[in-house]
Amino acid sequence: MTFRSLSCSAALTVLLGLSANPASAQFPQPDGGNLERGALPAHWYSQDPKCMEIPQWQVHEYNPNFIILRQSPCTDYEKPFIFLIFGKEKALLADTGSRDGNLPPTLQLVIHNWLKRNGRTSIPLIVAHTHEHGDHTWGDTGVQALNDPAIPVTFIPSEVEATRNFFGIGNWPTDIGRVDLGGRIIDVIPIPGHSKVSVAFYDRNTGVLLCGDTVYPGRLYVQDFPAFQASVERLIDFTKGKPVAHLLGNHIEESSTPFLDYPVGTMYQPNEHELQLARGSLLELDEALISMHGSPKRLALRDFSVWPSGPSFGSPAENEAYKKRVDVQRAEMWDHNKQ
Ligand SMILES: [Zn+2]
Ligand SMILES: [Zn+2]
Repeated sequence: MTFRSLSCSAALTVLLGLSANPASAQFPQPDGGNLERGALPAHWYSQDPKCMEIPQWQVHEYNPNFIILRQSPCTDYEKPFIFLIFGKEKALLADTGSRDGNLPPTLQLVIHNWLKRNGRTSIPLIVAHTHEHGDHTWGDTGVQALNDPAIPVTFIPSEVEATRNFFGIGNWPTDIGRVDLGGRIIDVIPIPGHSKVSVAFYDRNTGVLLCGDTVYPGRLYVQDFPAFQASVERLIDFTKGKPVAHLLGNHIEESSTPFLDYPVGTMYQPNEHELQLARGSLLELDEALISMHGSPKRLALRDFSVWPSGPSFGSPAENEAYKKRVDVQRAEMWDHNKQ
């Protein structure tokens, strides 16, 4: 075989000894490549106050080995998403939910169903986190106390050292770690800025990038602006040339109307934005951050907004307003006929 008989890119691949693994390069044909496909729901159970009907967790099978769970708005207005990814040897749970989530019964049911479907009796579960905030770690105690022989748990607290050690991240935050779940490698990219211990998870099998609270359709609270900007730029670099099916974050706070979010504390979101964003959102976010020239400010974009969490965030008046909003919605949470 001569180079003459190869296409330019194939020749380059041979010359440079690059891996031919399609998961490390964009696909030449628009045929879906060899990504494991999945589907997202048309809407989530967050539209109406129907708390007699809404389960504690909405379980959505993106595909048979990639499960998305969303906490009910009836327990906490944050209604975060968490993610359960199965490999051949292990499973990974990203986050444990927010206040009053009561995750263990649903988690056990889903994992036992997966075991049944796959003719297995047990699977080790790694519990890790997109970041350390309480609305993603509230369920830690419950998951650690699972005590289910079918689901031996390895718990990674959302701390820099523990995260570095477990995922083999050399220098924090510039190096990338990984975990092999058995035929499924998840890359772990440190992205501090929203919080100290933020990480993104990239699932090579589906091309899904879990972004935590760093990028999602809602208010992107920025705690450390320079770190946040550097993290967004590292995410752009990391995803360059890789197939990115979806960016999936932890919340939806944006409505389906461009530039319009739901106020802080909104439980029911009848016209909410879809969960998924595309890689282009990272470029748009980066451009917005660059435009601020180092002076963070609130800025609404089409699908999300940048919210520096400085003195203007969580002012007494804002806190009062959102508590009232939650109270009103809680009073109506059982009675959807009134709506
Ligand atoms: Zn957060
Ligand atoms: Zn959050």
